[in-house]
Amino acid sequence: MSAASDLVRSTAAAMAADLASGEVTSTQLTEAHLDRIDEVDGPVHAFLHVDREGALAQAAESDARRSRGEARGPLDGVPIAVKDVLTTRGLPTTCGSKILEGWVPPYDATVVTRLREAGLPILGKTNMDEFAMGSSTEHSAYGPTRNPWDLDRIPGGSGGGSAAAVAAFEAPLALGTDTGGSIRQPGAVTGTVGVKPTYGGVSRYGLVALANSLDQAGPVTRTVRDAAMLHDVIGGHDPRDSTSIRQDWPSFTEAAAAGAAGDMAGVRVGIITELAGEGWQPGVMQRFQESVELLVQAGAEVVEVSCPSFVHALATYYLILPAEASSNLAKFDAMRYGLRVVPRPDASAEEVMRATRDAGFGDEVKRRIILGTYALSSGYYDAYYGQAQKIRTLISRDFDAAFASVDVLVSPTAPTTAFRLGEKLDDPMAMYLNDLATIPANLAGVPGISVPNGLAEEDGLPSGFQVLAPALADDRVYRVGAALEALHEKQWGGPLLDRAPELELTR
Ligand code: GLN
Repeated sequence: MSAASDLVRSTAAAMAADLASGEVTSTQLTEAHLDRIDEVDGPVHAFLHVDREGALAQAAESDARRSRGEARGPLDGVPIAVKDVLTTRGLPTTCGSKILEGWVPPYDATVVTRLREAGLPILGKTNMDEFAMGSSTEHSAYGPTRNPWDLDRIPGGSGGGSAAAVAAFEAPLALGTDTGGSIRQPGAVTGTVGVKPTYGGVSRYGLVALANSLDQAGPVTRTVRDAAMLHDVIGGHDPRDSTSIRQDWPSFTEAAAAGAAGDMAGVRVGIITELAGEGWQPGVMQRFQESVELLVQAGAEVVEVSCPSFVHALATYYLILPAEASSNLAKFDAMRYGLRVVPRPDASAEEVMRATRDAGFGDEVKRRIILGTYALSSGYYDAYYGQAQKIRTLISRDFDAAFASVDVLVSPTAPTTAFRLGEKLDDPMAMYLNDLATIPANLAGVPGISVPNGLAEEDGLPSGFQVLAPALADDRVYRVGAALEALHEKQWGGPLLDRAPELELTR
């Protein structure tokens, strides 16, 4: 292994410490990651756009600041990758869609502004399912991302690019967005950490909306501590987002540090009855039960908790999401952004719109626009959208009732490990089922984390352990996530990703 590949394999926290002690410069770190991207991103395809020049310029500025003693925070100089659904001034933002090909936003998303203010060089934009619709990145108009653990398998979705970039050591940190699981499920199947913050805890300004009432940006990292450090950078009130919560948040870095002692004494943990059983891969369930046992040994009180309305979560989500998405995507009308297809010289505006949307949107996007438009049409509105909103309330009440008796709820993050590319592409229902365990949190707005949970016996692939907490109690997911991580590392002798095959990436 070259010195450059050693540099990329440590955690963001360790990189931050090395920057602080002068062991390494941001330029060296950023260059090492750009070289790693050159080396492995051909087969992985985590990136849609790499900004070598911009990242190195930001790294040089960071080094200059640090040498003046003016570092802006612990992560100043640690590079990061950003999901292509977050706007970046001067850098292309496609949302994985042909309809936005060539669009360069004139403004930064608030989370991106905060990265810049904290001094993190931006390596580039990561691949995703078109407009964040999917669980495999196979719906990207620019071709799929592959799972670094096995290049014939999917890296999860929609944020498979961010997860694969972190798993393949192309970036120590990444940003994702989670509308129904797109941070947590890719985390589970790539052996990385993913956090969906409380709805309103992280600004959505500049997050190209899939479903406004469900979307939330969050960290994608290799350790819980790294996720907490990144959350501390991007979180907090933003006057530009009307749903942003106005309150002081505790330090998540401190919450993770408290958890890392691995002490679960007095923590009440609820296992969600409805998120297990038939259809769940036995190897995933086995690792889940072993981790529950670890928590018990560390002092946790574990009980089973029923959330009866969760069985309707998937159906509810697939009414509310398409309804909001169909309305959000109406703005891609060939006039305002990106692609414009003119079918013939004297075409009317309607004909240009139709031709552009036909050519610019993929099948999954069209499917959801049709579904959403139907669910919102007069005469059906109450029967579908209205009904779904009522069930959404019941799901929130299930969470409230559960959190009256436990501090956190747990489940496997996804029912299976990574499936093969192409395996579920023609079966939307099979694809949707991946989000069974992650969707309830989005419907209720509560925070959740997926922590690497070991390899399933039958296929040797990563699985995830999900921890959910009440709204505003994001510190709990870091505390419990860090505790589980510490208990695992004691057992495994190091992080899960240390066991990733040194990918056949350069083949
Ligand atoms: N896979 C889910 C969907 O297709 C979740 C997407 C997301 O979280 N962005 O809707």
